[in-house]
Amino acid sequence: MRGHSEYLDVSEVVCVKSDSETYCKQCSITPFHSSEFEGAVNHLISAHGYRILHVGQETELKRETPIHKTVAVLGR
Ligand SMILES: [Zn+2]
Repeated sequence: MRGHSEYLDVSEVVCVKSDSETYCKQCSITPFHSSEFEGAVNHLISAHGYRILHVGQETELKRETPIHKTVAVLGR
């Protein structure tokens, strides 16, 4: 597909959200907490060879208060 060649060799995708506890499925450990969004993304890149495909924002309503989250999609 023209314009999407950067995704052609991606066989596995991981989604990291800034508000949820994230653990590394590769290491089977739980090194990440909600405040460690950067750490989770950096770990996937440096330790497992993922690269960032997309970073965006997600909004959820909790008791009519919008909660903004950062979402990163990584692939390898
Ligand atoms: Zn890991």
